[in-house]
Amino acid sequence: MISLKNVIKTYDGKEVLKNISVDFPDGKTTVILGPSGSGKSTLLRSLDLLVRPDSGTLSFSDISLDYAQPVTKKKSFDIRKKTSMVFQNWNLFPNLTVIENITTAPITVLKQSKEETEKRARQLLSQVGLAEYADRYPSQLSGGQQQRISICRALAMNPEYILLDEPTSALDPELETQVLLILEELSKMDQSMIIVTHNMQFARSVADKIVFVEDGEILFDGSPKDFFEHPTTRIKDFLSGIT
Ligand code: ATP
Ligand code: MG
Repeated sequence: MISLKNVIKTYDGKEVLKNISVDFPDGKTTVILGPSGSGKSTLLRSLDLLVRPDSGTLSFSDISLDYAQPVTKKKSFDIRKKTSMVFQNWNLFPNLTVIENITTAPITVLKQSKEETEKRARQLLSQVGLAEYADRYPSQLSGGQQQRISICRALAMNPEYILLDEPTSALDPELETQVLLILEELSKMDQSMIIVTHNMQFARSVADKIVFVEDGEILFDGSPKDFFEHPTTRIKDFLSGIT
């Protein structure tokens, strides 16, 4: 489980996370919802230290960190290794082939053997239906294919948690479906995932837990059933697209 406790993040004196406490369970898919600008990406990025909150704690089962205290390089590395972020705009290295994109970090950062890493990368590629694309460059792939590669790249790091920030928002509907199906598969395989999305249908089908953020606060933390079937007035407005 990942636990955030009393997390505060300010930008230019404005609190964008207002004393947030929330848990992300193991083997489950947690979906973070909320209007634009509410703090979803900031919350997600706090988990892998891409964003450093002003105060509060981040705990995993075997390691924890006080955001307000200095952190050693080793500890920061150990914490970042637990999660892997899939970005909205893929962030593949354009000058590396697909297989190199997937294997570079496990080989250089985790010091895994090249042979083993490539073997695993090819397994991952066939899982997402892209086995024949190993030697292509990102520019030779469609958006949906690139996004599937970036999911493989995250999985190749063997993280405990995969973090996805609007993984399909840059895709057209057909490509979006391809990527969502893969995430549903991963969810069924009990991969721990934390997903920010604006796609309510997907949220409903994949989430074990919903966290609703508004204006830096968590207004709902519970089951998808409660969220979608017994919404508060505020959540009803959100779901009907008023905000
Ligand atoms: P969206 O759905 O549009 O992606 P979000 O919920 O992910 O929105 P965040 O990106 O977390 O929202 O931003 C929360 C607030 O923090 C916003 O008001 C945003 O303008 C502000 N913010 C985010 N990053 C920075 C930054 N680097 N510097 C200053 N303000 C920032
Ligand atoms: Mg965002």
